Amino acid sequence: MGREVWFSEWQTDDVKLSLRVKAVLWEEKTPYQELLVVDTDAYGRVLILDGAIQTTERDEFVYHEMIAHVPLSIHPRPRRVAVIGGGDGGAIREILKHPEVEEAHLVEIDERVIAASRRFFPAIAAGLDDPRVTIHVTDGIRWVAEEARDFDVIIVDSTDPVGPAENLFGEPFYRSVAAALGPDGILVAQSESPLLEPELVRRVQRGLRAVFPVVSLYTAAVATYPTGLWTFGFGSKGPRPPRPRPDVARFATRYWTPAVQEAAFVLPPMVEELTR
Ligand code: SAM
Repeated sequence: MGREVWFSEWQTDDVKLSLRVKAVLWEEKTPYQELLVVDTDAYGRVLILDGAIQTTERDEFVYHEMIAHVPLSIHPRPRRVAVIGGGDGGAIREILKHPEVEEAHLVEIDERVIAASRRFFPAIAAGLDDPRVTIHVTDGIRWVAEEARDFDVIIVDSTDPVGPAENLFGEPFYRSVAAALGPDGILVAQSESPLLEPELVRRVQRGLRAVFPVVSLYTAAVATYPTGLWTFGFGSKGPRPPRPRPDVARFATRYWTPAVQEAAFVLPPMVEELTR
């Protein structure tokens, strides 16, 4: 019998998610993090940063569709969009499905994540060479504060709140995002698991409430993220969730639909209490 190789993500001190590995495709220490790409039977290719699963071929569509289509279908005319983090390119691929989008900016601190995604996840990185896309390899906090102006939608597709992503999760950053947004501007930020990180979900909601007049939260089921139930913070200068505007374009999706979007804002009490 051949030797079995497993990858385990320590989701907490007491819980691991383990995937049997068919092959280790890439391993690298970048200036920012440990980058690992493995191939698995269960989830296809998996991108891992500092031991945490970022994206898998099999379930990436859930997260990328929900982080992109919710704000883009609620904004009345999303022409200029930015993604902070998101170096795999999945959010950009979904953003480009909206015909109103004229510019999509990807602001990723670690160029090696973009390179690994282009090489090992071509279907996820597919949009990165579109002429509407500009890639900025820099810190998203600095870029938003110093370079971003008049955006319609800004999406925070970050790693967990440690290391370079730590300050992407708080009121000072949301204030700077609000200043970079136009009058109908919308911010959506991934905000982790309500079961595992309730205080973080609360912190994101409080930070958004301090800055935006319209604040909400929605969820999606992402199989490979800790506990599977994921939250997204929603902050807006005007447009209100949950309903997509009636003229939103039709495009192919596997998780997002207008009805799924409306349902995603209906919160179980254990999540709803984190929004107060
Ligand atoms: N969907 C993923 C998740 O929730 O697990 C996140 C995917 S994406 C790969 C996250 C990216 O955020 C990483 O590539 C990381 O390098 C980037 N990142 C972290 N901090 C950043 C910062 N301050 N500015 C720009 N990008 C940052």
